[in-house]
Amino acid sequence: MRVAVDLELCQGHGVCESEAPGVFELAKNHKVTILEGSPGENRRAEVEAAVRFCPTTALRIVEED
Ligand code: SF4
Repeated sequence: MRVAVDLELCQGHGVCESEAPGVFELAKNHKVTILEGSPGENRRAEVEAAVRFCPTTALRIVEED
């Protein structure tokens, strides 16, 4: 899977970093930084939680073959 972010929507709430700290990090400009763009399957649950709980629906998972 690949993680995609719409930075226009991101408002820097940091929920994603709380849910999946190794994958997302809140940058100084209050926008999310993707630390791991293609996280392993062992991280799927936390990435899915980050996507689900992002208050502005800025995140999504793109499945890759
Ligand atoms: S939870 Fe959503 S709005 Fe908040 S920093 Fe992450 S991507 Fe941005």
